[in-house]
Amino acid sequence: MSTDTIPIRFTDFPPTFRGPTLRPGDHDYPEARQIWNMRRDDELPALIVQPLDVDDVVTAMKYAASHNIPVAVCGGGHGIDGNAMPEGALVVDTAKLQDVTIDPSTNRVTIQSGVKLGRMDAATQEYGLIVPAGVVSDTGAAGLTLGGGIGHNARRFGATVDNLISIELVTADGSAITASADSNAELFWGMKGAGHNLGIATSLTYQGHEVGPKVVSGLIIFSADDAPRIFDGIDSVMADAPRSLSCNFLVLLAPPLPGLPDFIVGTPILVALVVYTGSVESYPAAISGLIGLASPMADMVAPSTWLEANSIVDAFEPPGRRQYMVGGYLSGLNGDIARKAVAAITNSPRPKSPLPSCLITFPVLGGALLDADEDSAAFSRIGAQWLLEVASEWDDGSDDSEYSPWVDVTIAEFSTDLATNAYTNLTADRGPEWLRGAYGSQDKWDRIVELKRVWDPNNRFAYNKNVTRAVESA
Ligand SMILES: Cc1cc2nc3c(=O)[nH]c(=O)nc-3n(C[C@H](O)[C@H](O)[C@H](O)COP(=O)(O)OP(=O)(O)OC[C@H]3O[C@@H](n4cnc5c(N)ncnc54)[C@H](O)[C@@H]3O)c2cc1C
Repeated sequence: MSTDTIPIRFTDFPPTFRGPTLRPGDHDYPEARQIWNMRRDDELPALIVQPLDVDDVVTAMKYAASHNIPVAVCGGGHGIDGNAMPEGALVVDTAKLQDVTIDPSTNRVTIQSGVKLGRMDAATQEYGLIVPAGVVSDTGAAGLTLGGGIGHNARRFGATVDNLISIELVTADGSAITASADSNAELFWGMKGAGHNLGIATSLTYQGHEVGPKVVSGLIIFSADDAPRIFDGIDSVMADAPRSLSCNFLVLLAPPLPGLPDFIVGTPILVALVVYTGSVESYPAAISGLIGLASPMADMVAPSTWLEANSIVDAFEPPGRRQYMVGGYLSGLNGDIARKAVAAITNSPRPKSPLPSCLITFPVLGGALLDADEDSAAFSRIGAQWLLEVASEWDDGSDDSEYSPWVDVTIAEFSTDLATNAYTNLTADRGPEWLRGAYGSQDKWDRIVELKRVWDPNNRFAYNKNVTRAVESA
């Protein structure tokens, strides 16, 4: 793509900024602006600045404040909406903030905000630890945390924000501060779920937990015909299953997976992605309830490392594709939900490559996620026993009109099943009215709006599921 016609903006950006500053035409600009969702690949930020430290972030925010301009923040570039590198924007990109520090005496883990999950996992596993977070290695840990954070350990240890001890951040006016239970406590509450709207996290400290290196993980493939029976029985099975068992159901057209007979490929299947962090010996008992619901067509679950287990989903969500995903919470699964999912996948646009095109996924939640008080964080989880994600992925812009509408039509099928509260990170923006309900109660929304008024009165952090816009459109 030519960048010749892009106007040069922000020419007075302070030379005291120590990190790279990248404009269209610069050698490192094309790689720096790359984000996961190629649907927004045609947008060209005017200036990408990559802070080397907190002082650089302060410099960038003071500059933005003095010019009264919004700032886009890029962490891992994995935002579902692709907001990290917007057209014409000034972007603060945390790519150079890569330190991970682990205190083995307390199992506390501190990361700088450019760290992605794969790096955090690799570093913490050196100490036999994990931070409960997401399931795709390339996701930015800060962007995930500031929206809530859920993954294979949510049933056992809760959301990422439930394990967050403190955040170092730079505010809209360029102040570097700490938010924790003891310092700026109300802001800390808001950062735990509405953080993208409130400041730029520069580092985050979590309570790590002992998990791995040995776990049990893999895929169990069921016939789509068995999906209603499995979904009818799964809630009571999971209620009795140990919290160290995690299960993410995927309904999709069978990709050419090793272990799957050829005649299955291209037909709807139900996949259970299983991760078990208890002992290898206790796995058969832990999984007996699930595999007692129907006979698998293939069972590829085996002992693995935690690092292998927490990167299984990488293959289903590779970078470099166009993507559209809408999701929400479910209070339970049932046969009717399974039938709707199988029918939608049966009628979905076919993949045009060996990679999956349309997926409906149901990661299990509940457990420790629901032990935490709903009002303990801005992140809302009340009633969330499962997440529903309807996603399509494709490669060519000329196919947008084929794959995107399928997501909208399919999510509408589940409208009576979905809760009004939602996990804002794992869905495309569903508009202001939806956002006002996504955090749960009116009281929580009012607290978030007040935090936005106090900490970002000029909506400097505007490239996100935006609180100010939701208030103004009420
Ligand atoms: C393939 C895929 C898999 C995913 N899997 C999971 C999962 O398993 N569990 C889960 O909970 N979520 C998951 N997510 C959602 C993910 O948590 C969010 O999209 C998250 O916001 C991504 O953060 P990022 O930094 O990578 O993205 P970016 O696009 O860089 O940023 C996303 C948002 O976070 C803001 N942001 C980023 N860094 C900072 C910072 N330092 N300070 C303030 N704001 C910041 C940005 O401004 C933007 O609004 C997944 C997303 C994708 C695309």
